[in-house]
Amino acid sequence: EAKDAGRNTFRFFNQKIHDDSVARMEIERELRGALDRGELQVHFQPLVAARDGRLVGAEALLRWTHPVLGRVPPDRFIPIAEQSGLIVSIGSWVLDQACGHAACWREACGGDFVIAVNVSPRQFATPGLVDTIRACVERHAIPRNQLEIEVTEGLLIRNPGEVREAMLALEAIGVTVALDDFGTGYSSLSYLRAFPFHTIKIDRSFIRDLSDDAEDCALVVAAIRMARALGLRVVAEGVETEVQSRFLAHQESDVLQGYLFGPPIPPEDFVADWVHNPSRRAFSS
Ligand code: C2E
Ligand code: MG
Ligand code: MG
Ligand code: MG
Repeated sequence: EAKDAGRNTFRFFNQKIHDDSVARMEIERELRGALDRGELQVHFQPLVAARDGRLVGAEALLRWTHPVLGRVPPDRFIPIAEQSGLIVSIGSWVLDQACGHAACWREACGGDFVIAVNVSPRQFATPGLVDTIRACVERHAIPRNQLEIEVTEGLLIRNPGEVREAMLALEAIGVTVALDDFGTGYSSLSYLRAFPFHTIKIDRSFIRDLSDDAEDCALVVAAIRMARALGLRVVAEGVETEVQSRFLAHQESDVLQGYLFGPPIPPEDFVADWVHNPSRRAFSS
């Protein structure tokens, strides 16, 4: 009987691995046509100044609604898009959408409004990335310093030389680069010295327990101090409570992002809630 149980467990795991890879293949197959079928949408989440709650930008976040699979979360399909190479065409489309909307919002949102776009490692390593970005910014006639590219530490490990070149080329045309999910990798400190980052985004896993975890508080304070000393802008992501918000503002984080201020929403809603509401403050200081 015990032997049977063991065999069943084995079969169960085998089945699970099989199901996972079938699901992955299904997602990859469906994702291939998603863009053409109009199933992808870019949502926008507000970025607000920690000092006074004023809108200072938005992060573009990809959404996929499949007729049968429903809403597929980015954490599920982005890695598959990355591995299959589909991220290159999808990513260019996101960039184009984001810059297009930013161009429309520019006047209402003011000169310091920044649109942030995530670029995956595979996409970043594509030859001609800098040209693609430059062309996109020019096509939509937005000032180059209105676009920020968000990358994760994973990018920096593979081809540090080429990545650094590309980042310098972006810097030269005025497009800034942010280090996303800061603190979740292995050697963030050396990366900050070696690559020309403009911004760090402190990962939301450090923000979550700020109110009752003294170690997380210490780490966040240290990260902000360090970024300050290096002349980097600090964005805190995943801000959900007033307590977190006040703590981060007090510690002189520059920008806050999180459900407390607003979730990612479709562009029409972003226009209604934020762009057409220039006097809106996420909070009164
Ligand atoms: P990310 O770039 O770190 O984006 C922030 C994530 O945190 C988003 O998840 C956002 O919805 C979520 N978030 C924001 N505020 C809060 C909060 O207060 N609480 C909680 N619990 N979560 C919050 P989302 O949209 O599911 O995206 C997940 C990841 O997928 C992104 O993480 C990014 O790595 C990737 N991604 C999304 N869109 C794109 C894209 O267009 N291109 C690429 N390459 N990656 C993308
Ligand atoms: Mg991001
Ligand atoms: Mg992040
Ligand atoms: Mg993330």
